[in-house]
Amino acid sequence: MTRTDDTGLLLNQDSDVAEIAGVLRRAMDGDLCTLTKQAYLAKSRELGREVFFRGIVEFSNRCRRNCRYCGIRRGNRDVERYCLSLDEIVDCARFAAQAGYGSIVLQSGERIDRQYVGFVEDVLRKIRESISAPLGITLSMGEQSGGTYRRWFEAGADRYLLRIETSNPALFAAIHTSESRFEDRLECLRTLRDIGYQVGTGVMIGLPGQTVEDLARDIDFFRRIDADMIGMGPYVPHDGTPMGRMADPLDDMRRQRLLDAGLAMIAATRLVLLDINIAATTVMQALSPVGRELALLAGANVLMPNITPVRYRASYQIYNDKPCIDENADQCRSCLERRVTMIGETTADGNPGNPLHFTRRSGRTRD
Ligand code: SAH
Repeated sequence: MTRTDDTGLLLNQDSDVAEIAGVLRRAMDGDLCTLTKQAYLAKSRELGREVFFRGIVEFSNRCRRNCRYCGIRRGNRDVERYCLSLDEIVDCARFAAQAGYGSIVLQSGERIDRQYVGFVEDVLRKIRESISAPLGITLSMGEQSGGTYRRWFEAGADRYLLRIETSNPALFAAIHTSESRFEDRLECLRTLRDIGYQVGTGVMIGLPGQTVEDLARDIDFFRRIDADMIGMGPYVPHDGTPMGRMADPLDDMRRQRLLDAGLAMIAATRLVLLDINIAATTVMQALSPVGRELALLAGANVLMPNITPVRYRASYQIYNDKPCIDENADQCRSCLERRVTMIGETTADGNPGNPLHFTRRSGRTRD
């Protein structure tokens, strides 16, 4: 029998790990609809039926890390490395503002050299100088020193996305090399929060050896660190990586199971964390042509159109079969617009889309 609280909900903000695991397991075993319906209702009640757009610029694939799952890891010699120029990145930001996206995400492989840190700082100042419309700027550039995070915040970034990848330290160690430490990531997340960023994190779903309890603990982790935004999605193997070379090819059955697990995680996270922003990530679309719509209907409220110039996109393949690598930014815009309208939601034109959770917690700090 399915247990619910006294308002009839499967999960709420106080649900413990065992309850979350039980709900995830039932959803993945077939009864996904009950969970996603509840999550969508909760999302609509709390945040309305509005989708925020974040234009994502994957501005460089140069990376100093060797994460065992990621297609742009340092050790993958088959990748042609690139970095957009300052003007190219600013043009992308300008396009996003004009298209009414309200915010952008600047993402890259991880680098910590002085030249790169200074370059990102210059890019941020230039964007703030040349675009007067309110524009949220999220950075997703991995682990950096507190000093670097602070410089970038002062130069104009206001959000940072750093996935914990998995909240299970042993699993974290298994999917990274010894250069990457779980504790360092935690410390980065704490530092980002102290500086004043809106903080996003997330995990990969369906990693080899990952259990349903691990996933339930991931949601508990999001709650404990008081995240403002979550970006998560299924793990999809990449041929050019150690983990990808060990994986069986994704057949239809496994695709479906991964998609369902992704949707169950989004829905359960929405019910437990209510007022945060949750992204319908592109990887959901790699698993199904309507993967992102399904994610929105399971409680996600953010879409991230790719606004990277098309000629670079094939070189930013973090997993196999990444979609949208041959569409230009205009096509991407109209495609997503249609997808949102089709499911009866509206697009929040030009709204930076601050997470309600952040607005509430900033209000509390000021009191
Ligand atoms: N260098 C930045 C951005 C990395 S790419 C950083 O370290 O934060 C962004 C995210 O892509 C990663 O956090 C990871 O969760 C996801 N990712 C990488 N490889 C993947 C794969 N094979 N399948 C699914 N997601 C993957």
